[in-house]
Amino acid sequence: MTTQTLDRPRAERTAQAPFPLSADRPSFDQVPTYDPSLSLTGNPAYHPSAGQKVALAAVGLAALACLAGWASGTGFSGLLMAVVVLGFGGGGVAYAWLTYGRGHAGTHNHGIMFSAQQARGHAGWLWGILLTGLYVLVYWFPQYLAGLVAVFDPISNLLGYPEGSRQWVMYGSFYTLAVATMGVRAMLKYRHVRYQRIRTASVMFCQLVFGYSLPYLLVFFGQPELYLHYFWPLDYDGLWPDTFGWMPLAALIFGAAMIFIGTPVLTYFFGKRWYCSWVCGCGGLAETAGDPYRHLSDKSLRAWRIERWMIHGVLAFIVLTTLILWANAQWGVLGPVAEGFKKWYVFFIGLMFAGVIGVGFYPVFGSRVWCRFGCPMAAILGLQQRFFSRFRITTNGSQCISCGNCSTYCEMGIDVRWYAQRGQNIVRASCVGCGVCSAVCPRGVLSLESGPLTARFGTPQNNLIEDLDILDAS
Ligand code: SF4
Ligand code: SF4
Repeated sequence: MTTQTLDRPRAERTAQAPFPLSADRPSFDQVPTYDPSLSLTGNPAYHPSAGQKVALAAVGLAALACLAGWASGTGFSGLLMAVVVLGFGGGGVAYAWLTYGRGHAGTHNHGIMFSAQQARGHAGWLWGILLTGLYVLVYWFPQYLAGLVAVFDPISNLLGYPEGSRQWVMYGSFYTLAVATMGVRAMLKYRHVRYQRIRTASVMFCQLVFGYSLPYLLVFFGQPELYLHYFWPLDYDGLWPDTFGWMPLAALIFGAAMIFIGTPVLTYFFGKRWYCSWVCGCGGLAETAGDPYRHLSDKSLRAWRIERWMIHGVLAFIVLTTLILWANAQWGVLGPVAEGFKKWYVFFIGLMFAGVIGVGFYPVFGSRVWCRFGCPMAAILGLQQRFFSRFRITTNGSQCISCGNCSTYCEMGIDVRWYAQRGQNIVRASCVGCGVCSAVCPRGVLSLESGPLTARFGTPQNNLIEDLDILDAS
């Protein structure tokens, strides 16, 4: 730095610098989220500011209200529900605003590799165990959650929800609150990318409307509780024979049309992202509440191999189960076998995998454990995306600086950098088209595109220096 530069007024120097000069940089307490470094091993996590502490206190108060409800049984449920919703929602949004909403737009690492919560430290493991335990209680031992379930009695009473299944109102309320609150956080964090803002708004809307309000409105008017954004095989009993006994014909036709006609057509044009990253409730939770853990996905070839076997195994399991159930319903054959398949699928895949492991393991294996290893809908979409879709991620290899941000933040464990370094298009069955690899790339190397089927793999660029003909300019 020259003397002339030092002589200039501090305000002028700061305005021209890409980030505050060290002498001008506020203390961590003043601007806790400002991190100009993209280095994963650089700045450790900041200490929370006073405002962030207040926001965290509101979240803590909501957690205390949950505990109070759990311990007290059914008392003060209206008041406790207000504290829980305002504390988690308001405190969470305020914390997100103070962390991501101020300062420069753009993705920063925020010291995630130093965070016990986000880097498989003790806090992450504790949170994973707590989440998993809560799922086990909700599914199999809801009687131990009676007080917590009663916190949401105002909603259950309004809907006339029967005793014995009210845990699902509590579960749905927490799920939707998590998507809404953490959705705001994701929109603030990725606010520099329009695609991320719209996509996050879409998953929040789908969860609020199709995953919460509409089903409960139907219940309120005495109709079957329908989740119109889930189709067979993700909604595993959506095409099972006994569903035809209670589901309205129009809903059945809509679900069948979506999986056999809508899905192939939309996937052909947009890839699996139209569903996995824009509509699905499981994907919605992963993209919002799971975002702090997206970098924990395993990028190894071994994980890729396991993923392919597992997800296609689950797809085969649900197809076989559905066929056997129909054979049994039509011809009365394979009765005990059909019941066995049904029972095991519901227990191991529908409850254990999709529910308990799928969400409870976020802090350990990353945010898309279920989508990557178990979802049969993702398997179908992936096969279509791999072999019959216009979607691809194009890479401008000559611009890549091999920083690895794209691979680090790919929640599906794709080593994006490997493709980027070769200038090779990415056409992978597992890519959910979240676009975060592109959002965090400092060089603008990656683009999510649709184009002709024939050219989707592109021609890998050879980036060897010998091929650049730099001496040929004369
Ligand atoms: S490759 Fe990119 S768009 Fe695809 S899942 Fe990974 S981060 Fe998302
Ligand atoms: S594609 Fe972008 S994010 Fe990925 S390694 Fe290259 S420069 Fe880094």
